[in-house]
Amino acid sequence: MKTKFIFITGGVLSSLGKGLAAASIGALLKARGLSVTIQKLDPYINVDPGTMNPFQHGEVFVTEDGAETDLDLGHYERYLDQPMSQINNFTSGRIYYSVISKERRGDYLGGTVQVIPHVTDEIKSAVLSVAQNQEDVAIIEIGGTVGDIESLPFLEAIRQLRSDLGKENVLYIHLTLVPYIKAAGEIKTKPTQHSVKELRSIGIQADIILCRCEVDLDQEIKSKIALFCNVDPDAVFTAKDVQSIYEVPLMLYDEGLDQKVAILLKLPAKNPNLQAWKGLVHRLHHFKNQVRIAIVGKYVNLKESYKSLHEALVHAGLENETQVVLTYINSQELTEHNLLKKLESVHGILVPGGFGSRGIEGKLLAIRYARENSIPFLGICLGMQCAVIEFARNVLIMENADSQEFDPDVLNPVIYLMTEWYDFRNQSVQKRETCSHKGGTMRLGAYPCVLKPETKAMQAYNIPQVMERHRHRYEFNLKYAAEFEAKGMVLSGKSPDEKLVEIIELKDHPWFLGSQFHPEFKSNPMRPHPLFRDFVRAAEKNAASGVSPLTEQEVETEFGGTA
Ligand code: GLN
Repeated sequence: MKTKFIFITGGVLSSLGKGLAAASIGALLKARGLSVTIQKLDPYINVDPGTMNPFQHGEVFVTEDGAETDLDLGHYERYLDQPMSQINNFTSGRIYYSVISKERRGDYLGGTVQVIPHVTDEIKSAVLSVAQNQEDVAIIEIGGTVGDIESLPFLEAIRQLRSDLGKENVLYIHLTLVPYIKAAGEIKTKPTQHSVKELRSIGIQADIILCRCEVDLDQEIKSKIALFCNVDPDAVFTAKDVQSIYEVPLMLYDEGLDQKVAILLKLPAKNPNLQAWKGLVHRLHHFKNQVRIAIVGKYVNLKESYKSLHEALVHAGLENETQVVLTYINSQELTEHNLLKKLESVHGILVPGGFGSRGIEGKLLAIRYARENSIPFLGICLGMQCAVIEFARNVLIMENADSQEFDPDVLNPVIYLMTEWYDFRNQSVQKRETCSHKGGTMRLGAYPCVLKPETKAMQAYNIPQVMERHRHRYEFNLKYAAEFEAKGMVLSGKSPDEKLVEIIELKDHPWFLGSQFHPEFKSNPMRPHPLFRDFVRAAEKNAASGVSPLTEQEVETEFGGTA
């Protein structure tokens, strides 16, 4: 069968959950026995989000093959349970970069290079490239909102694709907002009408309208929207607000969305097997315990910056029948004076990844508190590096220990700039081209890590070697290894050539572990990550010992997932 394409556009405003809708439709079609691939087209000029500030853009999601991508790819992986790669995310910048490179090479034979057809052709080939395994369905999410200048070339390209691929192989789904005005008790369809009209003016007639709304839309309203928007009366669906993002696939299934998609595209879809999703939602509503985990980081104001982390903690809670309540603590505001007040009621402390020296002292204080008070601790990437610095300064009494990232001329660089590493994908040694501390190559994507027997890491994974995803420039300085080990720090994970330390942990502590990689990228709601699972389990033990039970308000506001 030829791949059928579903294009998902958004209208009225951003943040309606287009990524989650795309991922959920993918999950439902997969549950119907179809093979599915998925792609995000982002209208910004950055070639990839790798250089973008997490304060603005949210998390950078790293794939197995080392692509730095939009956080929606994290949802795609979690909902489809299949790895994403370079081909699943294109930005305008990447498209233009490729067109301009071709122009410089002379590929256009002196022709005038234009948005139509050159940029749109480049977009079309990017879209078609995602279905490289002839999947039954390719879902393409167009970032931004209809009406933005930026997304016009993408919309023009997907408009053309309907005639290129044949009407029967292409479906347009438009996600809009249908506001419910509480005071008047009224539902407003006008913004949706305008947005569909806007889309039509570019030449795209939506086939399905998905309406994000606080309340269920009744048939009368749906028929009204269908009439004004020129779609089948049974092609309007409510995407109602739900408590947890993992309820979205079942909610859309109950609406009949995937069935309509299958009918319109004439897909050979079986009845869906939704057992796993039903089990997941059941567990979300039947927690037995609760724990409070503090995330001590720099980007705490925008929760999107720690998206995968948040989800990984929710997954770990699901496996432990534990509701994980997160408190985000800005490390820049953490001082010796307020430390106890901010941390005494938490059952576990997590210091996430990050870049730059801002807020490091606060992180070191939190880590010391966790170490000295037997609070379960998980440090990720920068968090692991900080745990190494804290140990050096306060246990090894190496006063001037630091990372070269924060002080390039530091006397004791316990964390230092990686100058070379073995790249197993290309089977060659990667060397940093310049020794500059800013910019330059990062070690990206999945690399193997060999675990040391009889450690907490090995206990968690229960296999001798794992693959985990990386995004870093600095590493543990093995010159100091013996000193650390003599005082009780265990180097429990290393690269196969033993040149890079991947995991550290403490011997005399209930659960204190740091990883140079980002385990959160590989956690799945159906298969929580072993390190997160054990971290939450340790925190739960701490909570069971009676430390600060949760208030009712906390339990309610933090259901275990955010939309
Ligand atoms: N800034 C640190 C490094 O480059 C940590 C990176 C991270 O946390 N992702 O090694």
